Amino acid sequence: MTRLVAGNWKMNGSLAANRDLLDGLMAVPGVEMAVCVPYPYLAQLLERPAGVALGAQDVSEFEAGAYTGEVSAGMLAEFGCRYVIVGHSERRALFGEDDAVVGRKARAALAHGLVPIVCVGETLAERDEGRVMAVIGRQLAAVLDALGVAAMAQVVVAYEPVWAIGIGRSASVEQVGEVHAAIRSWLAGQGVAAAAVRLLYGGSMKADNAAALFAVPDVDGGLVGGASLVAADFMVISRAAGGGV
Ligand code: PEP
Repeated sequence: MTRLVAGNWKMNGSLAANRDLLDGLMAVPGVEMAVCVPYPYLAQLLERPAGVALGAQDVSEFEAGAYTGEVSAGMLAEFGCRYVIVGHSERRALFGEDDAVVGRKARAALAHGLVPIVCVGETLAERDEGRVMAVIGRQLAAVLDALGVAAMAQVVVAYEPVWAIGIGRSASVEQVGEVHAAIRSWLAGQGVAAAAVRLLYGGSMKADNAAALFAVPDVDGGLVGGASLVAADFMVISRAAGGGV
């Protein structure tokens, strides 16, 4: 399947910095690229390099109405978003999002034709306790409950071990391979068309480790934080996803 490399800019950027960054991006044949930007910059990104899709980093579970501060899936669709990240570990840890909310956000996204990039992953303590798939299974089950088996095949799943995010060192290729295979088999076990689900790895994916991570079976792309803010690095990662160097 076509690999997806999605940049998560997090709460970074400015009109000028975004312009510079976008100037350095161009399509890579055979790879889908996306940038998930802060809400105010969606309008700026209506003009962007060909072949780079647009995404947001969160979405409201609600359709419309008295929800001050929220942004609906319909609004994101109107601004050309194809993707939206849901359940990022920063939102779970810092903003109190639980599994059920993440499931409802994924449902709201799909209802407006957006593809949710559902983030799952364990903390270091959970890994040390041997609970990696117990945690990920619980996180995925909430999304499956909200979507049902057929729609579940339309989401992108991003495995992001919390302990590997933003620290400069990714999980090992063995760890990534093991968890990605386990996620695919968990989905299949629930009756989901698991072969169709893109599984991204995220957590300190960088220019110098991307090729090794993409060589791991079941890694269908990457969710890239810090390195997506440097155009040259994001391009190296995207080319690596396409099999180039
Ligand atoms: C992320 O937060 O989605 C992420 C993968 O961050 P980083 O690449 O900076 O570890």
